[in-house]
Amino acid sequence: MIMLKQPDEVAKMRAAGRVVAEILDAVGKQIAPGMRTKDVDAIAVEVLQAHGATSPFYHKEHYRGGPPFPASTCVSVNEELVHGIPSARVLKEGDIVGVDAGAVLDGWIGDGAWTFGVGKISPVARRLLDVTRDALYRAIAAAKAGNRLGDLGWAVESHVKANGFSVIREYVGHGVGREMWEEPQVPNFGTPGRGIKLQDGMTMAIEPMVAVGQPRTREAKDRWTVVIADKSLSAQFEHTVVIRNGSAEILTQL
Ligand code: MG
Repeated sequence: MIMLKQPDEVAKMRAAGRVVAEILDAVGKQIAPGMRTKDVDAIAVEVLQAHGATSPFYHKEHYRGGPPFPASTCVSVNEELVHGIPSARVLKEGDIVGVDAGAVLDGWIGDGAWTFGVGKISPVARRLLDVTRDALYRAIAAAKAGNRLGDLGWAVESHVKANGFSVIREYVGHGVGREMWEEPQVPNFGTPGRGIKLQDGMTMAIEPMVAVGQPRTREAKDRWTVVIADKSLSAQFEHTVVIRNGSAEILTQL
């Protein structure tokens, strides 16, 4: 069932989303060669604590059949697509780093991700980031009341394909609210005019995931990190949005 949100609930999600935006803004300002991925996570923890928020990603116990997740963000480098565990790994000039941040505030969740270049990055890496970010904003523009989920997915898929990159199909966006994973699933591919109809009150995490090479993924030995099977570069950009007055308002921006 899709949980439509009332204005007071959207206000709480906007507050949680703002914490996510502050995390990603702080990371973007500080990320640099020589930083460890766990230093990126520490930036997030500091922002979360300043707001009295917690991370929906941190799981002390086993989660959804997998091992515990020991950090507040997912930090995924280069061919790592999503769910990277922050560690002592040191970032180098030219890396691209996906940071997926979440916040729970007053019981409501914000979910957002950005992929950052570390220092000077290669032309193909730059283009991957530009295309994936633009795909996100095209999907947000397509997230209008009366449109269908397939319109949103096609907005991503068509833009990525036109630029010669691959859309990941094994991981998708999702409804979000009090729970991190609500209905519906929000794929980054689709057929225009197909799928459920979008309406006011829907809140979704829209999150294109794109690879330079083939889209097949595998899970790393840590049972969290998702890696592109052919080890090509990958990127993820994500915003939580609400459909309100007919079109999407981004909740995870400053
Ligand atoms: Mg998400």
